[in-house]
Amino acid sequence: MATRGVSRLVKTLALTGSRPIGTSSGITSLISEHTAKWMQDTSKKSPMELINEVPPIKIEGRIVACEGDSDPALGHPIEFICLDKKDPAICKYCGLRYVQHGHY
Ligand SMILES: [Zn+2]
Repeated sequence: MATRGVSRLVKTLALTGSRPIGTSSGITSLISEHTAKWMQDTSKKSPMELINEVPPIKIEGRIVACEGDSDPALGHPIEFICLDKKDPAICKYCGLRYVQHGHY
């Protein structure tokens, strides 16, 4: 019983070892193709262009706490932004712009 189990184990290991070489390189070429596709697709806007289209959020008060999206899984810590300047303040984490209400 025990020897049978061992021989089966060896067979499994042999099968694993005989996996065709080049699987990893295949994945690499897939990634590079995907990246190239992303870079060539000019019909879609880059994340930077998209965030620049979001109008500045008007805030009543001098300080805004930006959390990015309401989803905490995005890794955006709470960022307190001071709005003393005339120009819209940009959150360094998500790129959202805030402007003090009344300065316009
Ligand atoms: Zn933010």
